[in-house]
Amino acid sequence: MALRHRIFQLGFDVLGASGAARLLRPLTQGRGLILTLHHVRPQRPAAFAPNALLEITPAFLDQALGRLKARGFALVSLDEAADILRAGRDGPPFAALTFDDGYRDNVEYALPILERYGAPWTLFATTGFADATARLWWLELEEAVRRLSRIETTVAGEQLSLPAGTDDEKIAAFDALYPRLRTLPEPAMLDAIAGLAEVARVDAGAFARDLCLRWDELRALAKRRDVTIGAHTLTHPMLAKHDESFVRHELAEAKARIEAVLGVDVRHLAYPVGDPTSAGPREFALARQAGYETAVTTRPGHLFPGHAAHLLALPRVSLNGLFQTGRALDALLDGLPFLLWNRGRRINVA
Ligand SMILES: [Zn+2]
Repeated sequence: MALRHRIFQLGFDVLGASGAARLLRPLTQGRGLILTLHHVRPQRPAAFAPNALLEITPAFLDQALGRLKARGFALVSLDEAADILRAGRDGPPFAALTFDDGYRDNVEYALPILERYGAPWTLFATTGFADATARLWWLELEEAVRRLSRIETTVAGEQLSLPAGTDDEKIAAFDALYPRLRTLPEPAMLDAIAGLAEVARVDAGAFARDLCLRWDELRALAKRRDVTIGAHTLTHPMLAKHDESFVRHELAEAKARIEAVLGVDVRHLAYPVGDPTSAGPREFALARQAGYETAVTTRPGHLFPGHAAHLLALPRVSLNGLFQTGRALDALLDGLPFLLWNRGRRINVA
């Protein structure tokens, strides 16, 4: 388990058991929060499931929405969330739900539950996924490791030969590969993964085709009053790894394309991957210049009044598939794990 996840696990368990989180809530809970979701679908049991953090079950979504309501959170759209921050408006805590990438399971499994709770939600669409041309490289890598019994590749001059015959070996191989690949320039990372996928005979094009909403499906969603369509770039790159003209193109063209095809205003952006290695101060400035009103990262945290001055660098709270428990939900809503993670800072935009 990654260090970040171990820290959160510790936060959930120790603080949940001690009752400290509830006592500290007045200090740690922000004005509101934006939830990050990816897949919502029934659990598929598998020992090797390196992307499991990116999916929750319909039952957990139901539980999360129930917990939000029980704790008095107002379920709001991203526009309303931005309005509340901009106006400095008081009131009950709020939660805005956001779904990244544009998965079809969001419509199949999440939508009926969201509808039942009257929850508005935002779907961040990657145009290349709707076109089935962009690569869900993290799934290509997972599938390659699943199929191969040994991983042979070269990453940044380092020759790797990793056993991958058993589930434990596959987990270890993925954990060794993934962080190394993430440090590469993005084209080199994509080439390395494409090489492994080819050896493993993975049909890389199948992921977007099978999993992602196409334009006609997005068009139907865009007509709904409870759905806001936001942009998640053209090809889902880690923007901070690219030159400025590339980033400008990804941000402006994704907005223009979605607006043209769906006939809606696109005011909101989610930075792909969204951590500090993918989106930093340069991206926040370029997103503003591209005409977005808000943009969300995957930096963990609640929203505080000070975020009114940082609407293009908003933190989110991930409903992480590794922590699908009531105690984890309470810790996320209390906010204490985030203040610990951010070393006490409420605003982290550097
Ligand atoms: Zn994404």
